[in-house]
Amino acid sequence: MVEDTETPLPDKEQNFSEWYNEIVQRAELVDLRYGVKGFIVYRPNISTILRQTYRLFEDALDEYGHSVCNFPVVIPLEFFQKEADHIKGFSGEVFWITKAGDSELDKPMLLRPTSETAMYPLYAYWVRSYRDLPLKLYQSNTVYRYETKATKALIRGREFYWIEAHDVHRTSEDAVNQVKEDMEITINALHDQLGIPFLLMERPPWDRFAGANQTYAFDVLLPDKNVLQIATTHLLGENFSKAFEIMFEDEDGTKKYGQQTCFGMGISRIVATIISMHGDNYGLVLPFHVAPLQIIIVPIPKKGKNELITEKCEEVYQKLKDKGYRVKLDSSEERPGAKFYHWELLGVPIRLEIGPKDIEQGEITVFRRDKRERFQTKENQLIETIEQLRDDILKELRARREKDLEENTREVKNKEEFLEIAKNKGGFIKIEFCDNVKCAEIIKEETGGYEVRGKLFGEKEKPKDKCIICGEKAKSIVYVAKPY
Ligand SMILES: [Zn+2]
Repeated sequence: MVEDTETPLPDKEQNFSEWYNEIVQRAELVDLRYGVKGFIVYRPNISTILRQTYRLFEDALDEYGHSVCNFPVVIPLEFFQKEADHIKGFSGEVFWITKAGDSELDKPMLLRPTSETAMYPLYAYWVRSYRDLPLKLYQSNTVYRYETKATKALIRGREFYWIEAHDVHRTSEDAVNQVKEDMEITINALHDQLGIPFLLMERPPWDRFAGANQTYAFDVLLPDKNVLQIATTHLLGENFSKAFEIMFEDEDGTKKYGQQTCFGMGISRIVATIISMHGDNYGLVLPFHVAPLQIIIVPIPKKGKNELITEKCEEVYQKLKDKGYRVKLDSSEERPGAKFYHWELLGVPIRLEIGPKDIEQGEITVFRRDKRERFQTKENQLIETIEQLRDDILKELRARREKDLEENTREVKNKEEFLEIAKNKGGFIKIEFCDNVKCAEIIKEETGGYEVRGKLFGEKEKPKDKCIICGEKAKSIVYVAKPY
């Protein structure tokens, strides 16, 4: 049906890693030739997906009462040192600035690995009274971490794109509600707009964000059955507000510490997830919402009829543009087959083909990228068809990925079974667990890197048996998986 003008991509099912490395380059998403380990160049094709993904979250944050802000990329050492757990958690992966011009700096600075210690000294000035609360700010930026593991484009690097929201509340109850709101924003984006299924985990104490009382994380399963954390929200309690003296006078005149939360949305990782989960052996498959180009129109030329075809294509293009779709008419000199190949590689959700026969019959040929299916629609029903297709594509993509997640989440009853699945299958493994870090370490050692990712948020099921590792009475049901 489609003419392949280039060699096919590596098979995604058979070799995800090769497929991924190939597609990010062949679709001109990133360029890895910048020459600094962990730093890559984002080309226009991916920068526009990134922008759409940013907007999805920014719009939601705005709607939920956050304001946007921008803090410097450098953090002075004295700010960074204020919260003890935070330093311990991050100091090993910080990029330091020790020299400027020809002279050594008296006080070194660092590139933000995350912005708590950049923002909170200022929050101490801004928060005075209960009337100043809640304070809800976010910034869309890049952060820098000296990652020592192998890097992978968009998944693990030393510079990554994200949004961080930092809030101060009057009561701990308000802070808990904030975390629920953060979850709602993420669930809406991932589930409703991007078709990405996830497990929302409450991280075990040893795996919390440095300085947090509680960490909730969105874990997704990539096609190689390893998990990737793509968003987190944390209850910080008073840990930072004490360290940075973020205090307010309450209604009754008493001085209190602010109750803080922070929320990170890993935009580059979310984009990596869109590419990995939805893509196929023909290229990217983008959900309508974040596709830089939602509809591509390809004229099917025919001698003697080309003027008529061009006219019809332009008419349809204008109509869709007026409706607000991101649409392009590909009137280049290439053959239709080469155009099909190109736009399929880039994941454009809907392709319209207009040829002499279509015009004669008052129809348009529609191709949906997700199923790679063609069908005809009446020209006067085109808008309805597109609206319907937009929802259908999302449902189709989400259903496929939910099936993957379900098939790759397995419950085991004992250690032998656990080790067998860890070795041969991967994915999430659900076990009864004693909550002891020692058992988590044994798991990591004996499986070559599997981690206890935590309890499912809101899980009602209670453990009935013993920890599958030590045999002590189980305290919770946890999910174990191999992380990126
Ligand atoms: Zn145990």
